[in-house]
Amino acid sequence: MQTCMINIDHLVKRYGNKYAVNDISFKVGEGEIVGFLGPNGAGKSTTMNILTGYLSYTSGTVEVGGLDIIDHAFEVKKMIGYLPEQPPLYSDMTVEDYLNFVYDLKKCTFNRKKHIMEICEVVRIADVYKRLIGNLSKGYRQRVGIAQALVGNPKILVLDEPTIGLDPRQIVEVRNLIRTLGLDHTIILSTHILSEVQAVCDRVIIINRGKLVADKRTEDIATAVEGNRRLNAKICGPQKEVLSLLRAQPGVTSVEAIGQHDADSITYLIESEAGVDIRKPLFSILAKNNYPIIGLEAVGAGLEDVFLSLVDAKEPTTKARKKTVRKRSSAGGV
Ligand code: ADP
Repeated sequence: MQTCMINIDHLVKRYGNKYAVNDISFKVGEGEIVGFLGPNGAGKSTTMNILTGYLSYTSGTVEVGGLDIIDHAFEVKKMIGYLPEQPPLYSDMTVEDYLNFVYDLKKCTFNRKKHIMEICEVVRIADVYKRLIGNLSKGYRQRVGIAQALVGNPKILVLDEPTIGLDPRQIVEVRNLIRTLGLDHTIILSTHILSEVQAVCDRVIIINRGKLVADKRTEDIATAVEGNRRLNAKICGPQKEVLSLLRAQPGVTSVEAIGQHDADSITYLIESEAGVDIRKPLFSILAKNNYPIIGLEAVGAGLEDVFLSLVDAKEPTTKARKKTVRKRSSAGGV
């Protein structure tokens, strides 16, 4: 069985009457990459700061590697490498000076030079080793931030918004790096970027207003929300007639023309009741009327839909859903 690295049980953090974290429980197994997702003010930083020993808590228990984080604060700190949202970098130090400084702060006892050079190779900063941190690009600075978290060989990495402010190429590089680090670390990564979770994480934990609202494997998250089925159908024929045929189908709850990509076909977004598969009757009725279907694609509930519905505690607005659908259909080639 997978070893439990982090065990948070009924964690509560209160400021006066206000609950920043309100009875959160979850476990993280060895080698997992878990995305910690939630809107601003949800309680992500509070939870991470508690886990990394920077903040006390009101009640509950937090164990890291089987050790209580209060009773074994020193051992626990050695097990965790932390990259805060604002990496603690000194712009007037060189990368070399800075990593040696962190090595001393963490009271490491490895072969100093070998340990630091290994980290520089992994995070690919060896080429800027002698340069001032203040003169590095944001992407390099972020990697130096990850390097400091790796000093001391912690088993667990806690990364707060690790790609914020990076350009698209740097984002890809840092995500690749996180995946590589995930091969031999347990990682908790906080982010508000939903696609980041899909790109990097095995599992996603969503919190809202201090409460845990979802904890699922990334590939299963779409099933967190039961809802109507949606299809994008590209159909040849006059829009008015096609629309009225589609709308007359039993089980269809709404139809909307969402785009015309060539002269004789139009793409429609068709929504039907949960549990009703309208594809076969749709094919028959359109064939009978000589309106060929030249493209058909199911539109699954993406992480964005799930996130919106969970954090809003209600179904996403029609506008938000349509925006997502359009974005996906243009990429999906309906
Ligand atoms: P997130 O990181 O998800 O944006 P936070 O953990 O920073 O959320 O904050 C959770 C809630 O706790 C917010 O409503 C925030 O205003 C509140 N909070 C955080 N720190 C304090 C504090 N020192 N005093 C009072 N309220 C706080």
